[in-house]
Amino acid sequence: MNDAHLHLQDERFKDTESLIAEMLESGVKRCVVNGTHPDDWDRVQELSTKHPDLILPSYGLHPWQTPAADDNWKSKLKELVKDSPQHCIGECGLDRWIENPDKAAQEDAFLFQLELANKYNAPLSIHILKAWGWFTDLLRTHSFPKRGFLLHSYNGSAELIDELVKHGAYFSFSGHFLHDKKAKQLDVFKRIPLNRLLLETDAPDMLPPVSVVSHKIQDTPQLNHPANIHSIAEHLAKHLKIEFDKFSSLLDSNFNHFFLTR
Ligand SMILES: [Zn+2]
Repeated sequence: MNDAHLHLQDERFKDTESLIAEMLESGVKRCVVNGTHPDDWDRVQELSTKHPDLILPSYGLHPWQTPAADDNWKSKLKELVKDSPQHCIGECGLDRWIENPDKAAQEDAFLFQLELANKYNAPLSIHILKAWGWFTDLLRTHSFPKRGFLLHSYNGSAELIDELVKHGAYFSFSGHFLHDKKAKQLDVFKRIPLNRLLLETDAPDMLPPVSVVSHKIQDTPQLNHPANIHSIAEHLAKHLKIEFDKFSSLLDSNFNHFFLTR
């Protein structure tokens, strides 16, 4: 099983190496570690250099971090991406859910990262929250990478799926959508074309319901353990009424196609 989006560099993880050992033991094959701010990119790079078979590094400026970033982030990102052949770009995106979003700064940061992803035809991980009209406006007026792009933890409506697919979207399902209160989003995922589906933990966030949690993090059970990805896959396969082995190889081939085919 592969994890399309998580944050192993997160400082809330106190013992990352043990966590990685547990991921490998559980059978996680690859994961995409998303930086969110220039201050954590070095850590992402360090982890991916140490575990090149497991970790694909992704570098980006998260829309929550745009106010905190000084102007140098753009040149730093350009350099990083140029030097790292397996890089992905993100987490980037648009967010009107946070208090007082600076829309102009968010859009500028997003378009810069989009342009870089276009230049390298790199996998791009996008976060959109309460900003679907804004995003589809940009989708209609800008070019997006030929390989497509990932809408991480897709929280948009079923009505948008066709247009997003037409423009190359992949959609990743997070274990958080298995909570009863998220039943509507689980239904949305039943309508996503199977060849565009990916799976993520977004660890340490997006903790799935207790019934889905197979791995806990000692002392901080409120955090999501990345080895929960297998259990998330099993539960989603049941909801989609697909036999697990078939589902698992389908997810593998989507992951390889989107992230690894260069
Ligand atoms: Zn994330």
